[in-house]
Amino acid sequence: MDVSSKLIKIKEDIEKACERANRLPEEVKIIAVTKYVSVERAKEALEAGILHLGENRDDGLLSKWEVLKDDAVFHFIGTLQSRKVKNIIDKAEYIHSLDRLSLAKEINKRASRKMNCLIQVNVSGEESKHGISPDGVVDFVMKLKEYPNINVCGLMTMAPFTKDEDFIRSCFRKLRELQKKVQDLNLDYAPCNELSMGMSNDYIIAVEEGATMIRIGSALVGEYNQEV
Ligand SMILES: *Cc1c(COP(=O)(O)O)cnc(C)c1O
Repeated sequence: MDVSSKLIKIKEDIEKACERANRLPEEVKIIAVTKYVSVERAKEALEAGILHLGENRDDGLLSKWEVLKDDAVFHFIGTLQSRKVKNIIDKAEYIHSLDRLSLAKEINKRASRKMNCLIQVNVSGEESKHGISPDGVVDFVMKLKEYPNINVCGLMTMAPFTKDEDFIRSCFRKLRELQKKVQDLNLDYAPCNELSMGMSNDYIIAVEEGATMIRIGSALVGEYNQEV
């Protein structure tokens, strides 16, 4: 299926989910995750009306950015090694994977402007997942005061790898509760308006639970007819 047909379906899903949750579809940004696909496929997504592209490696971001920089807003969504920060800092508009102070320090040092960062939270507690533990988020945000180039624009999580929708939902809900806690701190460097949650398999639940950014790869730009 071409990207535009898939996008139509996803937008319908978002509209219905928003209706159920009493939200506006405009509140939800769709990030096309292009990490497994070609520049041409990413271009197809932009032509279908996508604005946001997500990549999880510095070289992937770079190769798409070189061709599409005038037409897309780039999001870095993967684990970020500190030594790679310099490669992406001027190209990504958002970093979704801030998960440690050493990374904050490096971003702060390399950024030539305020950098939009989302704190990655390991809500499900799975050992394989990166991210700050929910209990540590407020403390982590407070410590970011030291780094004036960091703007905590939101929180990000990856849902657990499970078919248990109630559990997935509870993780998204937890992230939203954490967002409220951060917002209640009233820090000018941490407006925390964004909730980046939901991927191909769980974006509908994520939208119902308040996602403002959904990161969709296979269901949107997948080049095969994958079951998702
Ligand atoms: C790959 C990836 C996605 C998209 O995954 P799909 O299941 O293909 O939609 C979203 N977020 C992150 C962090 C990813 O690495």
